[in-house]
Amino acid sequence: MIRVVTLEKIDPADLAFLTRTLYQAFGLGTELAGDRPVPADVETEDGRLDAVKLLKDVAPVRTFADDKVLYIVGAPLALPAGPLGEPPCWGFADYGKDRAVITTAKLPARGVTETSIENWRRRLAREAIHAVGHLWDLHHCYDAKCAMHPSWSQSLPANPEMDLCSFCREKSERKIRLAKT
Ligand SMILES: [Zn+2]
Ligand SMILES: [Zn+2]
Repeated sequence: MIRVVTLEKIDPADLAFLTRTLYQAFGLGTELAGDRPVPADVETEDGRLDAVKLLKDVAPVRTFADDKVLYIVGAPLALPAGPLGEPPCWGFADYGKDRAVITTAKLPARGVTETSIENWRRRLAREAIHAVGHLWDLHHCYDAKCAMHPSWSQSLPANPEMDLCSFCREKSERKIRLAKT
């Protein structure tokens, strides 16, 4: 089961699109688990949210074995700097574990036209699939059409596809099957 928790207001129609798309990507039941407040003390000096701390401190939701929880925030996320500086952060997943967070801050403007809203929803879904993919042990993928292609990649088109490539899909299906047995 994938449980989606919002830490900002999101249009119910956007969330319905998101849960449907996550279900299609992983073949796992996906449901909304309500909203939670942004935990205190996770804000950085420049007004972003510390992604690692947020996943640690956020109010838990009821889960069962192998449930994956996806948190969605509106503020930009910050990650600890690595040797190459701080990585651009669309989201952060506790690799192979049960919690991930994504931000809507880097999505294209949602706008008010059918096309701009559609593009926004598809990009949100792509980042959600990407983050949940990491929770199912998927690594980054070279295929720019795959949701596991790095979100910061130069070769990612402006409106990227939101599906997993067949390799990543099969790998996630294998992991999910194993988890169920
Ligand atoms: Zn990634
Ligand atoms: Zn792939």
